[in-house]
Amino acid sequence: MFRFATLSIQKPRQLMFSRKYFLDPSDLQYKRVKVPWKGKLLRFTIFMIVAVAITILYTSLFNRMFGSPKEKTLNQEIESLKLKYSILERSIDNALRSLDDLELSDGNRYRPVLEMDSIPASIRKMGTGGVSRYEELEGFFNTPLLLGSRRKVDEIKNRATIQLESFRAIEEQKNEWKRQMEYLPMISPVNVIYRLGDGLKFREKHPVLGTPQWHHGQDFSTPHGTKVYATGSGTVIDAGWNGGFGNCVVVDHGYGYRTTYGHLSAIKVTEGLNVKRGDLLGLSGSTGTSSGPHLHYQIDLFGQHKNPLYYFNNDLTEDEYFDMIQTLTAHSRLR
Ligand SMILES: [Zn+2]
Repeated sequence: MFRFATLSIQKPRQLMFSRKYFLDPSDLQYKRVKVPWKGKLLRFTIFMIVAVAITILYTSLFNRMFGSPKEKTLNQEIESLKLKYSILERSIDNALRSLDDLELSDGNRYRPVLEMDSIPASIRKMGTGGVSRYEELEGFFNTPLLLGSRRKVDEIKNRATIQLESFRAIEEQKNEWKRQMEYLPMISPVNVIYRLGDGLKFREKHPVLGTPQWHHGQDFSTPHGTKVYATGSGTVIDAGWNGGFGNCVVVDHGYGYRTTYGHLSAIKVTEGLNVKRGDLLGLSGSTGTSSGPHLHYQIDLFGQHKNPLYYFNNDLTEDEYFDMIQTLTAHSRLR
């Protein structure tokens, strides 16, 4: 019995390998416990469930503490996108500020100079605002951010379109003004150093007729044969003898303006000719009702006599005046 008891204490080797044995009291032999396959399957299933549960638990704890590699990549991407978005936002804001400056120049500088009305703020703001157009942006976690940017971009688009139209109108107006400036009588018809004779005034006694009457232009006391130039571009509507004005040239400049050049000794243009400012019209003289060599120069605006002295700058020196004429007629065929 003692021997057997000793034997029972010593576990057989096979016990190390999860095999179960039992002591059969009938023959006092250790015999393997035979587990039915259903039991094996149950044990295996339980083992797998526990193993999977522990794995999930550990993974989720790890991810919670350190984040999964995929999350890390996504987070980096989100940070990079945030940076790009903030740069984009800054660009949009800069564009809006530039647009503000353009609109300010448009309203405060260009339009007033060209005597154009400013564009009302209500027209500039037209087409901005409204929510219904942004339905596709609804429902995202960052909808307010997207909406804000989208509205700004749309605002830039609308305001830039209006500004472009405004600049086109300004360009047209500028060209019209440039044309008008070419046509209006704006220089002296002779070298301005010549002594100015009678101006636009009522004369108690006409120098030749001796009777009181209005003098409708400006006289220049010029040496006989002084060159007389067109003071603005236009069409010659009269070139010949004209009563008291003697040999006379009349130029129609459009915009209601006409200029008259009287008492000429020679006429260098013909009726119907288009002339440019600075073109030679004739030579001064003393033909018609004249007491001595001089040029009678007259400006009429819609039939009203204007004071020619207000239409040119008489500060020019002789050289400056001829430089100006040279420049004006550089491409003229009437030099
Ligand atoms: Zn006169």
